[in-house]
Amino acid sequence: MSDYEALRQRHVARAVAFTPRLIEQLDWPAERLAAHRQERLRQLVRTATERSPWYRRRLADVDIGRLDETTLPELPVLTKTELMEHFDDIVTDRRLSLAQLEQHLSTAETGSYLFGRYTAITSGGSTGQRGVLVYDWDSWAVHWLSVFRGVLRVKLADPALARRPTVLASVAAAHFSHGTAATARTFSGAHLTGIRFPVTLPTGDIVTGLNRARPDFMLAYPSVLYALAREALAGRLHIAPRRILAGAEPLLPEIRAAAERAWGGKVINVWGTSEAGGTAVGCDQGGTHISEDQVIIEPADLSGRPVVPGERSAKVYLTNLYNPVLGLIRYEITDEVTVLPGSCPCGSAHRRIADVQGRLDDVFVYRGIPVHPYLFRSELGREAGVIEYQVRQTPAGAAIAVRCTAPVSLDGLRDRITAALARSGLERPQVTIETVDRLERAGGPAKLKRFIPLAANSEPSRQAPAAPEPILISAGP
Ligand SMILES: [Zn+2]
Repeated sequence: MSDYEALRQRHVARAVAFTPRLIEQLDWPAERLAAHRQERLRQLVRTATERSPWYRRRLADVDIGRLDETTLPELPVLTKTELMEHFDDIVTDRRLSLAQLEQHLSTAETGSYLFGRYTAITSGGSTGQRGVLVYDWDSWAVHWLSVFRGVLRVKLADPALARRPTVLASVAAAHFSHGTAATARTFSGAHLTGIRFPVTLPTGDIVTGLNRARPDFMLAYPSVLYALAREALAGRLHIAPRRILAGAEPLLPEIRAAAERAWGGKVINVWGTSEAGGTAVGCDQGGTHISEDQVIIEPADLSGRPVVPGERSAKVYLTNLYNPVLGLIRYEITDEVTVLPGSCPCGSAHRRIADVQGRLDDVFVYRGIPVHPYLFRSELGREAGVIEYQVRQTPAGAAIAVRCTAPVSLDGLRDRITAALARSGLERPQVTIETVDRLERAGGPAKLKRFIPLAANSEPSRQAPAAPEPILISAGP
C-alpha cells in the first residue's frame, strides 16, 4: 500500500467515525443549532486572531466574548480578491503558503497530502476569479459528510444496503483540483464505493458505464442529469438509484421534473461550494436545508444589506465554522439564494432555501449537442497563471479571453480545449484564446459573466427568460 493510500484509509476511518454525529446534527432543534453556531463562531475568531497575522490586525477590536450572529454583521466582509492577496497571512498554520499550495495542486493527479494532513482545491465560483482553498484533516471529512450525510442516513437505515457494498456514481468534475472529484477520491470506501464518470465523457459512454455500475446513489450536475433522465425515459439507461444528488448548477424545475419522471421523487438538491462543501442539501420532502451546524449564511443585496426570508439575495456572506486553518469569516460569494420562511414538512430545524429558478444559461448547445461549462472550467482552472476568464460560444467552438498573472501556454490550452470539444461530438471545433488586461463586466464589479452562449436568436428557447424551456434540446422521446 502506498503512503498516500495508507493515509487515505486513516482519513476514511475518521470520516466513518464522524458520521453518526453529523447525521444526528441534522435533527437538532433550532436553539441547539444556534448555541452550537455561537460557540463555533467565537472559537473560529479566537483561532483566527491568535494565529493569523492578517486577522489579528483586522479583527483587533472585536470583543469575542459578545460575538454572536447579531453582532457578526459588524465584522468586515472578506472578498476573494483579499483572500488571494493576503492568503499567506490569513491561513492559521504558518507553514502554509499560496505558492506552495499551487505547487501541491499541480500534482493533485497523483494523490498526496500536504504535510501529511492538508488537502487543497481550487474554486472558480460564479465570478470567474480563481481561488485556492485549503482544508485540514478533520475539516475535509466534514466537507465530504456535509454533502453525503443525508444519503448515508438512508444507507445506514436500510438492512439490504448494509449487507453489500453500496455504490455511489459521480458524474461530475474530472480533475482532482475540484472539490467534488477530490472528496470522491479521498473518501471512496467510507460507507460507499465511489465510481467516477468525468462529465466530459460523451453521454453514451456515461450511460454504458452507469448500466454496468448499477449505482445505489448518484451525484450529477443538473445539466448532465437532464440528459441522463432522457436516456432513462428512452429506455437506454437502466438504473434505479435510491437517491440522486444534483449540484454545482441550478436545479431547474424542468430538470427536477424530468429526473422525477425517470426515477421517482428521489432528487436531492445540493448547493455545494468549494468554501464549505454541502452548504445546503436537500431532504426527502423536496426542501433544501442550509447546513446550519457548519456554516453561517447571511443573504445580502448588491449593496450588502441583509435581505429578509422570501427575497432573493444578490450574494451571501459565508462563515465556515469548521475549517479554522483557512478562516472564512463573512466571505463574499455571489450566489443568489432565497431563504424560505416557515418550516419544512420533514421537521428539520435547518432553514430552507428555494431551488434556484434562474436560467441554466452556462450550457452551450451546438446543433443539439450540449457542452457543459465544466469542459472549459476544468482546463482553465488548472492553469495557475490564469486568474480570470470569459468564454464566448461561437458557431463552431469558443472565443476565450483570459487574464493572466504568469506565463501560460495558450497554444497548449487551446489544443486541450479543442480536443475536449471534439470528444463531446463537435466536428472540427474552432477555439481561440487571447490574453486581455481586463474583462468586460455587465452589472458592476461583482458580476462577470463567465460563459456567454450564442445570441438568443440561435436558441429559440432563450428568447423567453421568464419561462425557460429545457436547455438540453437534443432529440429524445
Ligand atoms: Zn426538509
